[in-house]
Amino acid sequence: MALLMLENNIPIHSVVAFDTGWEFPAMYDHWRLFEQKTGLKIQVLKPEKPYTYWMLERPVMPRGGPKENKQVHRIGYGWPSLRLRWCTRWKCSGIDKYQKQVGNAVSCEGIAWDEQHRAKSDDAKRYPLVEYRITEKQALKICRNYGFEWDGLYDVFDRVSCYCCPLKRIGDYRLLRRYYPEQWNQMLEWDAAMNPNRGFKGYKTVHDLDRRFACEDRQTKLFNHKPINRKEAI
Ligand code: SF4
Repeated sequence: MALLMLENNIPIHSVVAFDTGWEFPAMYDHWRLFEQKTGLKIQVLKPEKPYTYWMLERPVMPRGGPKENKQVHRIGYGWPSLRLRWCTRWKCSGIDKYQKQVGNAVSCEGIAWDEQHRAKSDDAKRYPLVEYRITEKQALKICRNYGFEWDGLYDVFDRVSCYCCPLKRIGDYRLLRRYYPEQWNQMLEWDAAMNPNRGFKGYKTVHDLDRRFACEDRQTKLFNHKPINRKEAI
């Protein structure tokens, strides 16, 4: 989106990225490369406290009831979910706060032409990719033409977000486990530190999902195994 805006001389005040701390390492390299190639500085915003604090350490009070009787009933919000998307809340409020500081700013979001149902009608927002009818696939091609490769991230995944985002498809975690074991192991570590663990994407824990994948791997190995010649077996 930023490249398209530069190509079309759309004025840019700031390029803003919100660092959740859950980005793939290649994404940080990408930000640096973007700055080198375009000469634009990325304004990197961060949450007030690390996301691991909200997920694992934050004392959570029950909702409602008289304040004086409120007692901590849980430590940490746990994995974000569709119903409790605390991570997005921090992200949006951080970006809104920055936008307000700029004053009269219009925020441009990289929603593509083929996902325009996600675009909101709002005077303070613009969607350049929708305006120029650029699909996700075309946007990726533009970036690749400029020499952005994300160290192969987009060869593995169709879409890239926080590596532990619980809103991904199950297949994406399978790929994460296979090609990014360091990030997957980090997820397992956080998962083990949750007490109680409120679950991850319909599974009781990420460890349960890990067991499912391990079981699938065993089955794949078994069925891909060349059948033993009966004579050899005897
Ligand atoms: S990408 Fe997923 S985990 Fe990251 S902030 Fe958005 S919803 Fe949360």
